[in-house]
Amino acid sequence: MNYDYTDVQKSVQENFANFCQKELAPRAQMLDKAHEEEVPALIKENIRKLASIGYLGMAHEEKYGGTELDLITQAIAGEEVARACASSFLSAGASCGLFGVPLKLFGSEAQKQKFLPGIISGDLIGAFGLTEPEAGSDAASIKTTAVKKGNEWVLNGVKTFITNATLADVVLVMAYNDKAAGPGAGVTAFLVEKGAPGFSVSKPFDKLGFRGSPTAEVILQDCVVPDGAVLGNVGQGFIQAMQTLEFGRIGMATVALGIAVNAMELSNAYSKERKTFGKPLNRYQMISFKLADMMIMTDIARMLIHKAAWAKEAKNPEAAIHASCAKLFASETATQIASMAVQVFGGYGYIKEFPVERLYRDAKLGEIGEGASEIQRILIAKSILAKYAK
Ligand SMILES: Cc1cc2nc3c(=O)[nH]c(=O)nc-3n(C[C@H](O)[C@H](O)[C@H](O)COP(=O)(O)OP(=O)(O)OC[C@H]3O[C@@H](n4cnc5c(N)ncnc54)[C@H](O)[C@@H]3O)c2cc1C
Repeated sequence: MNYDYTDVQKSVQENFANFCQKELAPRAQMLDKAHEEEVPALIKENIRKLASIGYLGMAHEEKYGGTELDLITQAIAGEEVARACASSFLSAGASCGLFGVPLKLFGSEAQKQKFLPGIISGDLIGAFGLTEPEAGSDAASIKTTAVKKGNEWVLNGVKTFITNATLADVVLVMAYNDKAAGPGAGVTAFLVEKGAPGFSVSKPFDKLGFRGSPTAEVILQDCVVPDGAVLGNVGQGFIQAMQTLEFGRIGMATVALGIAVNAMELSNAYSKERKTFGKPLNRYQMISFKLADMMIMTDIARMLIHKAAWAKEAKNPEAAIHASCAKLFASETATQIASMAVQVFGGYGYIKEFPVERLYRDAKLGEIGEGASEIQRILIAKSILAKYAK
């Protein structure tokens, strides 16, 4: 047992911290405040910046342009990206992770050759389309259908809350090809390109947080895709999506941690400078104890994330539960720490000019996206009941 980072992890942490603080952090407030029409160009520029430091290829093989580093190292880099700009983490992650990882795991060689080099270089943007207006937590109740006609498939349905929908060149869409077979065997995943007939996207949603990462609906109206758009095997789409979300939950935990660490550091710096009653805020126990709690909570969140990453890497049978624990704790922690940070800043924390206001809004997504807190608790509870049933 050893908590030290390896030499590679140390240098990744240092390089990403320097790069992201220089290239992303100064743009984070501007991105949050940008008009919806300006957002696509700004976020694409950030995604390209992340491509230039190798971030988009960390999960992917060298032959497509990646570096294929382990999941803990990816989490170390991801924390730095999120600490600097959470919206950039979300959009980059939806492309190289939620879209790129299932392509890596289940795609044919031709599909990987077609999309992965562009995803890794930032020239192509991907998205992941599972959620529907009436199916979020209960993903098995999606209504989108896929009907085979000759060598093609015709898709019909609406996907909602899709990160990158308005930017994406290609969206991974889950649809029922055989409702009677149920989610385990009747859902198929399709790589739907934006030029496909019958494919369109809505206007982006006007969101509480993560305003620099566009979210919109993907509309499939008699949308025709070739047989070659099927990811892996027909009928495996739901299982592929659930496996992808195990990685995604470590990602959501990581973005929450980045937000929390940023909030803690800003609170620490502010409380050193701001004086009341002739003393800096951090000399008051009620403020310094908030900083202490922030430190402990971020440390625990990081440990849970690294444990979940280790478990996934080691193919540990409890890996999915470790991912749920990390996601649940880190996201709830981020909301609490961002709230404490606003408190430390007092009235200034409530003003948009100060970044803790943005962090407070951004943090909430972690408790909702990729399996809300309630769903994680259900999964964790089921696992503990089963474990101690014997
Ligand atoms: C900004 C943003 C980006 C997103 N990006 C993507 C994306 O890229 N791709 C994608 O496919 N999806 C995406 N999502 C969708 C996200 O994963 C869903 O919003 C999430 O899974 C919750 O689903 P829902 O919104 O339908 O809520 P619901 O399922 O309607 O749940 C509403 C509330 O009820 C609770 N609840 C539901 N069932 C139970 C139960 N059995 N017991 C107790 N409580 C329960 C939930 O936890 C939640 O608090 C995104 C969402 C947002 C907001």
